[in-house]
Amino acid sequence: MIDCVVENGTVVTAEGSRQVDVGIQSGRVAALGHGLEAGRRVDAQGCFVFPGFVDGHVHLQMKVGQIMTGDDFESGTIAAACGGTTTLIDFTENCRGDDLAEWVEKRHTQADGHVAVDYALHLTLADASVGTLRNLYRLSEAGYRSAKLYTTYDGVRLADREFLELLAAARDARVLPMVHTENDHAIAYLTGRLLSEGKTAPKYHPLSRPPLVEAEAANRVAVLAGLVNAPLYIAHLTCAETLERIRAARGRGQGVYAETCPQYLFLSVDDYDRPGFEGAKYVLSPPLRDKSNWQVLWTALKEGELQAVSTDHCPWDYATQKTLGMQAFDKIPNGAPGIETRVPLLFHEGVGKGRLSLQQFVEVCSTGPARIFGLYPRKGTIAVGSDADLVIYDPNREVTLSQANLHQRVDYCPYEGYRVHGYPQTVLLRGQVIVENGQFVGKVGQGEFVRRQVSCAY
Ligand code: MN
Ligand code: MN
Repeated sequence: MIDCVVENGTVVTAEGSRQVDVGIQSGRVAALGHGLEAGRRVDAQGCFVFPGFVDGHVHLQMKVGQIMTGDDFESGTIAAACGGTTTLIDFTENCRGDDLAEWVEKRHTQADGHVAVDYALHLTLADASVGTLRNLYRLSEAGYRSAKLYTTYDGVRLADREFLELLAAARDARVLPMVHTENDHAIAYLTGRLLSEGKTAPKYHPLSRPPLVEAEAANRVAVLAGLVNAPLYIAHLTCAETLERIRAARGRGQGVYAETCPQYLFLSVDDYDRPGFEGAKYVLSPPLRDKSNWQVLWTALKEGELQAVSTDHCPWDYATQKTLGMQAFDKIPNGAPGIETRVPLLFHEGVGKGRLSLQQFVEVCSTGPARIFGLYPRKGTIAVGSDADLVIYDPNREVTLSQANLHQRVDYCPYEGYRVHGYPQTVLLRGQVIVENGQFVGKVGQGEFVRRQVSCAY
């Protein structure tokens, strides 16, 4: 009955670790035990067997103005797989006035048949029109159980009134609102002042969007969500100031979830001082912060105040795209690659340095995002009935992260030269081996769209 057994490994879930074999049948976990009979056997001796990792925030094949991110759905999902991620969530990427349903179809046309891992889509809510609201209910039923809302960026930014209407509608449709929180007016004012003083280099980017710009918007959106009794998920939380505001909302009894990203745990405002124009590689929003935030974020992950680590993967070539902002930092395309390096970085610095237990590591990189985004228990755990998405992880393999040995389609790695202890050895997607010894051996098109359940926030 069983097609394949992953044997001799230590199975690690968010609940615990045990020495047990995993029996797979028709792409799902069919048994956990010993002495399982099967034709195909995969040896995990000396390795951890983790549930496939879930990246809840990526941008593949995204067009901004006239430029396109380096990774399309194919290259980006291959890179994700090599880094141990078997499910990712991208966005519909529509703007104000666009037909949301048309964009859902457009993103499916781009992704279906072109993805190497499973994927889902967050809806983008860029206006509160009758059409958008009508689509929201229907799309929720169809498995699109979360939506991105923005407080900044031309074309997607919402006024507070629209936030209230959309948060209330999302609550009724049981769609989880995920918000990019930065005060747009403050950014415009600070950017204008810096540029008028001739401060145009990449190192001024963080001064145009300091921590309170993020914290103010997070606080405001949390208050608005409280007014209409909607749950909330804060995207890419970077700093102590924002954490304080969401603690306050939780203190008022609100359901507020939040993610951070590896860039905010491993990189800092000091990276903007790199020689020449190199700081542009680190221009992303919200910006990198003072190093003092690293400990704050690690502690918040350990204590469950932050429920997920996602990447916000958004790769722009340094040589040809970042240079659009050579004359002014506000023209530098925002974003950096990270889809492939998230899990190894978090394992190395989290588990390896004793900042997170194995369970906490699995929680924030897989189980937490799976629950929050309605993928659990199909994704995010190793249990009978779950998809057999498994990462056989060699804790002793050492890899030096470098643009030269990664699969992300972009001309730099923000962590160039960083040496990690522990790396994915074999990755299975629904029972099929898609990565072997660090190389993609699967088939593009093997990934499937996942219709999601309602978020655990409801
Ligand atoms: Mn964002
Ligand atoms: Mn993003």
